[in-house]
Amino acid sequence: SETISLPEAAKLLQEKERILILTHERPDGDAFGSALGMQEFLRDCCGKRAEAYLPAPPASRYAELIGSCKQTLTPEELGNYDLILLLDCANRERIACGPAIGSASLPGLETPPMLNVDHHVGNNVGARWNLVIPDAAAASQIAAEIALEFPCRIQPRPATLWLLGILTDTGAFRFSNTLGRTLRVAAELLDCGADLEGVVNAAYYSKPLRQQRFEVELLETQERVALDGRYIYAYIPDELFRKYDFDMRDGEGLIELLREVAGTKIVALFYRKGDSFKVSLRSKDQRYPVGPLARALGGGGHDMAAGITLTGMNHEEVEALLLEKAAALLDQDAKQD
Ligand code: 5GP
Ligand code: MN
Ligand code: MN
Repeated sequence: SETISLPEAAKLLQEKERILILTHERPDGDAFGSALGMQEFLRDCCGKRAEAYLPAPPASRYAELIGSCKQTLTPEELGNYDLILLLDCANRERIACGPAIGSASLPGLETPPMLNVDHHVGNNVGARWNLVIPDAAAASQIAAEIALEFPCRIQPRPATLWLLGILTDTGAFRFSNTLGRTLRVAAELLDCGADLEGVVNAAYYSKPLRQQRFEVELLETQERVALDGRYIYAYIPDELFRKYDFDMRDGEGLIELLREVAGTKIVALFYRKGDSFKVSLRSKDQRYPVGPLARALGGGGHDMAAGITLTGMNHEEVEALLLEKAAALLDQDAKQD
């Protein structure tokens, strides 16, 4: 396992011909933006045989931006590739490689060798080659920076997909992960013909009406204010998903509704998924990072945006555990307001 630089990653990609692109399960805007952007870039700009595999189609509002990608992946097919490019995925357990392969057999993924390109602190994929830049706002930003090392110009399609990844991972440049370098890469992508209007429309102005109704009811019935308003959380009951036919693939911006409230330091959103609970955490204040909290409970993520999958508990126990951890982080008694 070896750490490499941006130019070295670009050189490696230039040397390989048949490239399989993977990302994390439940892909978000950055995951499919970085992966499909690379697919388009390596194909159209470089004439490579590049294929991105996605386990499930992303949210419907992105359908037009997405185009086509690989929907199945078998162990036998791995032999058809010279390189696996993994994007936006911090650990092996989260790699989306489909039911036929399964994360349990992931060491086998090293034939062909893997290049791990990511922006998560504590990325522990340990691939053959690793390019992890925690200062990068998005994996899509790193993907674009790799592409900028190539002699060819980035075309509008990959530029658009990478801008989408940067926009969604920075909350449209609102989050503290937005640095000068983020804006400079975004500026390059715009100059390459990225469709900002299309991305903004898809990401922020394409909410189905039933989703807006779902959100209203969620806030009205489930929003809980604790710890003097410094911690706000919501649990999404199964019935609410059913009532509005709501799918968490459309839920990327949901936790932002909680974060909008004045005075909150940390927010949490959680829901049941099969036998476990999926928890999303966000911090609004660098003094109270949720990343370590998530890691202490077996999850992961960034300081200001993290997540956990909890098993063997009911929803009240998840709620109590999160309240206790939030209180400890905020140095307060775990009392409900
Ligand atoms: P989200 O709340 O948007 O699902 O995830 C925020 C961040 O937390 C992601 O970038 C991801 O790195 C991390 N994360 C989310 N869910 C999990 C999880 O179940 N396990 C781990 N290890 N990390 C997660
Ligand atoms: Mn992601
Ligand atoms: Mn990301």
